[in-house]
Amino acid sequence: SAKRLGRNHSLRFRPALDKQDNPQLALVSDLRAALISGDQLELHYQTQHHPGTGEVLGMEALLRWRHPLDGMISPGDFIPLAERHGLMSELGSWVIEKACAQQAHWQYSGMPKLPIWINISALQLFQGDLEAQLNTCLKRYQLKPSQIGLELTESVLIDERAGDMGPRLKALKEQGYSIAIDDFGTGYSSLGYLKRLPVDKIKLDRAFIRELPASHADAAIVKAVLAMARGMGLDVVAEGVETEEQCQFLINAGCSIVQGFYFARPLPAAELEQRWTALTAAAGAL
Ligand code: C2E
Ligand code: MG
Ligand code: MG
Ligand code: MG
Repeated sequence: SAKRLGRNHSLRFRPALDKQDNPQLALVSDLRAALISGDQLELHYQTQHHPGTGEVLGMEALLRWRHPLDGMISPGDFIPLAERHGLMSELGSWVIEKACAQQAHWQYSGMPKLPIWINISALQLFQGDLEAQLNTCLKRYQLKPSQIGLELTESVLIDERAGDMGPRLKALKEQGYSIAIDDFGTGYSSLGYLKRLPVDKIKLDRAFIRELPASHADAAIVKAVLAMARGMGLDVVAEGVETEEQCQFLINAGCSIVQGFYFARPLPAAELEQRWTALTAAAGAL
């Protein structure tokens, strides 16, 4: 594949790594270097909108790694690697720090007060002291917990290593952080945790959005999740909204937050600022 070619190509220029004929290990070593230098990593921000008015309601921070030789590497590729090789807590700290700095900058420069949602890996919740880390960062940048939301995947909540995540999540919640369940409905769906854990928001995975409105099964699932969430007082974000038809279906079904390429791709902070006016008006025509 092109990717493999890219890796071999880059290895030729890194004699120190010649002995590692394992491209994954070479990538781990590159990631370690990227964490030290800091300047290959970026957060991009994807806005979340009200589907009817286009109003921006928040944004999600998504990690990007601009590898000097291989180009952009997807978080779906390097985050699992970081988790396996003990780099996740450092990477997670970098994300928290960067998102807080950006939030502070935006508040200082008069951007609307909107929460930034960050993705939290299972390991960050199990191991490190996430709560202390978040609180330290908030203090440094004079932010309130309501300005940072935490996205956790379902698998985090029922991971056997985790034991009962309830007390940790409750502590975060009591501090004022909001908690969203990411990729809801994929993997190990269990509704039990929704009842037990202090969740504010469900992010309906884009697998259920992709074939709307044609797929009767997806339409039924989306409506049922919306009804359940309404009954429980939870917000629902529809992920991966790409078309006007999907958006219209979600409006009719009563979904109040949407995120996806139809509204905006994840953008570097500077670009988001430049395009702010257009972004907030993006769905005004609907
Ligand atoms: P996620 O948290 O579910 O993020 C949504 C993913 O869907 C993002 O992929 C986003 O770019 C993509 N997306 C958004 N709208 C659309 C759309 O309309 N169509 C399609 N096809 N895709 C859309 P991305 O940025 O590649 O991130 C992939 C995953 O990597 C994330 O899924 C999240 O699980 C993880 N991730 C990203 N940043 C971080 C981070 O800072 N920390 C941790 N622990 N995980 C992260
Ligand atoms: Mg997410
Ligand atoms: Mg998601
Ligand atoms: Mg996802």
